[in-house]
Amino acid sequence: MSTISLTAAQAGLLSYETCALLSRPAEPGYCPRCGEELAWRRHHSIQSTWALVIAAAICFIPANVLPVLNSTTLGSVDSDTILTGVVFLYTSGSWPLALIVLIASVMIPLGKLAALA
Ligand SMILES: [Zn+2]
Repeated sequence: MSTISLTAAQAGLLSYETCALLSRPAEPGYCPRCGEELAWRRHHSIQSTWALVIAAAICFIPANVLPVLNSTTLGSVDSDTILTGVVFLYTSGSWPLALIVLIASVMIPLGKLAALA
């Protein structure tokens, strides 16, 4: 027994973006449920993706440079960024927690940006 791999587009079907109704395209090209205009592809999707990747790359810098924690101890104020927090956790012996914070806060977002770019 073989499995037939057929996409919705190959079957002549499309999903409307707003209501996700899967149907055959009808003239004049509006969704029968919500009235959205018919489109096989999202308009300007490459440009939108690049704009979001660039915005994410710009936001990634202050997210890792600016302090995320201010702690006050006996009158002294310390500001910690994500990376200084990772270093503090590592030097205090909590290397598994430091590794989790480093991976979840720095490596995964950076990997996602690289993958999208
Ligand atoms: Zn619709």
